Amino acid sequence: MHVHTSVSDGMFTPHEVVYQAREIRLSGLAITDHDTVDGIAEALDEAKSTGDIQVIPGIEINTDAGRSEVHILGYYIDHDDDRLRQSLLKIRQARRERAAKMIRKLNAMGFEVTLDRVAEMAEGGLIGRPHLARALMEKGYVFSIKEAFEKLLGRGKPGYVPRYKLTPDEAICIIKRAGGIPVLAHPGLVGDDALVSRIIELGIEGLEINYPEHGEEERRKYAELARQKGLLVTAGSDYHGMPHEGRGKLGCEQAEDWMVDELRKKGRKTGKK
Ligand code: AMP
Ligand code: ZN
Ligand code: FE
Ligand code: FE
Repeated sequence: MHVHTSVSDGMFTPHEVVYQAREIRLSGLAITDHDTVDGIAEALDEAKSTGDIQVIPGIEINTDAGRSEVHILGYYIDHDDDRLRQSLLKIRQARRERAAKMIRKLNAMGFEVTLDRVAEMAEGGLIGRPHLARALMEKGYVFSIKEAFEKLLGRGKPGYVPRYKLTPDEAICIIKRAGGIPVLAHPGLVGDDALVSRIIELGIEGLEINYPEHGEEERRKYAELARQKGLLVTAGSDYHGMPHEGRGKLGCEQAEDWMVDELRKKGRKTGKK
């Protein structure tokens, strides 16, 4: 229920990801690219071609709340919604400007990477730090994506520039206006449970409880919180393609059927279809 493709910073195209999901016999998957819905039509087409796999249209919007990064998933979002597309276009332009700034910083430190090459690595899609990391790795400046983040691109590191500031509130609004269901991604990575509670009050309708980097304790804790607040629960691998780069392998966290059923029921109520 949490999969990235090459239209954001995943390695594989929407078509390929659906194919891979079918190969490992998943009954469905949600496409949740960062700040874009451009991969959804292709994934839906690929799923329709055989009819044996369900694709849930989704998105993951990255936001900032104080010093924490908060990612909001949106399920059953209407990917043709005009206002949604306009909001996302603005985000994309801001990301490109931010990448240019980060590259100027890296260049000043002697790392020869170019915006053209980074944009090429993004294959015309949205530019994220992982693309900068890949460009640094290609030039041999770092051995891994992880090293690129630890030395240069992570929050507070010398090549870092903050993203445009979208708040969790704005992301929830964007998702709801487009008929989607907002779910808080990997609450364990927010690193601040008081903040998690405040975000729930903003109108979050579910929590991603099962996530590769959540330990047993966190899974239990957030499942209990969801029960108390009457929220949906989900499971997601955050698959990006490369084992050392993204979070998990495709299918490493699988949602139970009832989780998807509950989500779908809610989608029918709030969606425009
Ligand atoms: P951005 O949206 O451009 O700020 O990039 C954030 C993305 O970078 C996250 O969603 C992850 O996919 C990736 N990322 C963040 N931190 C790390 C890390 N330490 N190692 C590998 N990938 C990371
Ligand atoms: Zn990502
Ligand atoms: Fe995320
Ligand atoms: Fe993600």
